Amino acid sequence: MAAITRLVKRASPSISSTAARSLFCSESSSHAPPQEHFHAPPRKDPKDRNVQWVFLGCPGVGKGTYASRLCNLLGVPHIATGDLVRHELASKGPLSSQLSEIVNQGKLVSDDIIIRLLSKRLADGESKGESGFILDGFPRTINQAEILEGVIDIDLVVNLKLQEEALLAKCLGRRICNQCGGNFNVASIDIKGENGSPGMFMAPLLPPANCMSKLITRADDTEDVVKERLRIYNETTQPLEEFYRSRGKLLEFNLPGGIPESWPKLLQALNLDDYDEKRSAAA
Ligand code: AMP
Repeated sequence: MAAITRLVKRASPSISSTAARSLFCSESSSHAPPQEHFHAPPRKDPKDRNVQWVFLGCPGVGKGTYASRLCNLLGVPHIATGDLVRHELASKGPLSSQLSEIVNQGKLVSDDIIIRLLSKRLADGESKGESGFILDGFPRTINQAEILEGVIDIDLVVNLKLQEEALLAKCLGRRICNQCGGNFNVASIDIKGENGSPGMFMAPLLPPANCMSKLITRADDTEDVVKERLRIYNETTQPLEEFYRSRGKLLEFNLPGGIPESWPKLLQALNLDDYDEKRSAAA
């Protein structure tokens, strides 16, 4: 395996100054990972590999839903760092009790841990011959974005946006099937347009009958925790919009409603609307 382990040399100076920090920090984390921990696929010309995209957006906006549909369409893996964290939690390994405390409070885990988890996922994918990806939930801090820029060429960052009113309702309505892992939403969102701003209707995304009795709610989808996650997003992650805008990589996309309205428009915005046959395969 042509495993390439590269450190962002630019990030190194901060390593020594932060080395003594705890592995587990909250939103203020700027702890760069040790050199040996960032694994990245070899840099290739974009025409010789699949897309390397990032999805940005507040909790509840639908990053997972749209990223996973696009991954089906484009044949690339959907790498969600939240899933990597939940997998680590479920494994009951040495990190899990500290991780669960942080995640269940809606805080961010340290850059160091998240980069270790992501690096391992990238290395596993590379050994299986994966090419390209859509990252969902990473980066979430400027430090993470700088580290990523140093090791991987990100082609495009899609910033999904949704009216703030809908975000909390969507998080609280989220349900996961504990058998098939499918993501559903029981919230029915009907926002009336006011003072010239458009209204919005989002129908629930209900599970099939065989998942109905197996639905669970994420431990961090309670009202207080979602509010904390939104606060942290606005404070710590939103600055990434400018980070990527200034590099000419940001595509802003305002979700006009639920999946039926948004999906075709997103494909259009990405110049993928000629993927007609594949579109239904991804649905
Ligand atoms: P998500 O499923 O993306 O909402 O992530 C669930 C939780 O995992 C977050 O609230 C964080 O505690 C943690 N997490 C996921 N991605 C990151 C990241 N890039 N940096 C720090 N913490 C993360």
